[in-house]
Amino acid sequence: MQALSSIGRFAPSPTGPLHFGSLVSALASFLDARQRKGKWLVRMEDIDPPREVAGASDQILKQLDSHGLSWDGPVLYQSTRLDSYRAALETLVKSGLVYHCQCNRRRIVSLDGIYDGQCRDLKLPKDGQAARLRVDSSNIYFRDQITGDARQNLHKEVGDFVLQRRDELYSYQLAVVIDDEYQGITHIMRGSDLHDSTARQIYLQRCLGYGQPEYAHLPLALNTDGQKLSKQNLAASLVEGNEASNLWAALDWLQQSPPKELQQQSIDRILQWGIDNWSLNILAQNPKDMLAPEGY
Ligand code: GLU
Repeated sequence: MQALSSIGRFAPSPTGPLHFGSLVSALASFLDARQRKGKWLVRMEDIDPPREVAGASDQILKQLDSHGLSWDGPVLYQSTRLDSYRAALETLVKSGLVYHCQCNRRRIVSLDGIYDGQCRDLKLPKDGQAARLRVDSSNIYFRDQITGDARQNLHKEVGDFVLQRRDELYSYQLAVVIDDEYQGITHIMRGSDLHDSTARQIYLQRCLGYGQPEYAHLPLALNTDGQKLSKQNLAASLVEGNEASNLWAALDWLQQSPPKELQQQSIDRILQWGIDNWSLNILAQNPKDMLAPEGY
């Protein structure tokens, strides 16, 4: 029975507090999982210390909690999972799928980000080099529950991609695939800025013999300059005390048409309304990035 085994997740990077855009992702994945009577997990993607902000993990968890977005089980911190990433990488090295690459950032930029495989057959030693996964020339197809059919040719559009950086940090692509499998995630719902990563993740799942979850990429909330709300462009943190209006605004932004009078209700009533009325189809009919509501 699919309903019992469905598992969704919210996987923030602790680079700052929650803003409207991240609330939208958290809320949508929560409602989707709860409507399916599935589990909803939180995973803290804390494997890139240079980008992290002290205290952000705790603040994000506090904000989720104060919005009534309660997760199942303990939070998984990716910083505790390095042994698993190392083991998976070793497996891929042994099967000849990984090579080490000495190309510097300037060279990669000059290639417009599409790696040309210059180091593929150089058999460079591991020390101090990035580890890249060989991609093949086939197309990867997947059906996104919101944005529809997608296709990417990794060889032409991405090139061999990095699993471990020169500074030894594991890449997002590697960690996310290993942990989605480890946590038994069946439904991935996240911002459409990550749509472009999906084919890489599916390819990696296949290399590691993992199953493939369902994907749904949400429209992005934009600021008045037309940029995605993000920690990088200083999106405002959600204000404490405004939880009910934040949830209502996020439901409204997600085109779920919450009734006006719901705004005055408790966060539990708002969330229950959201679970009962959640519709991915509505979003799928008009999956356009949209301005965040005024004040966010
Ligand atoms: N940690 C990523 C982020 O905050 C999201 C990862 C994912 O949902 O796959 O952008």
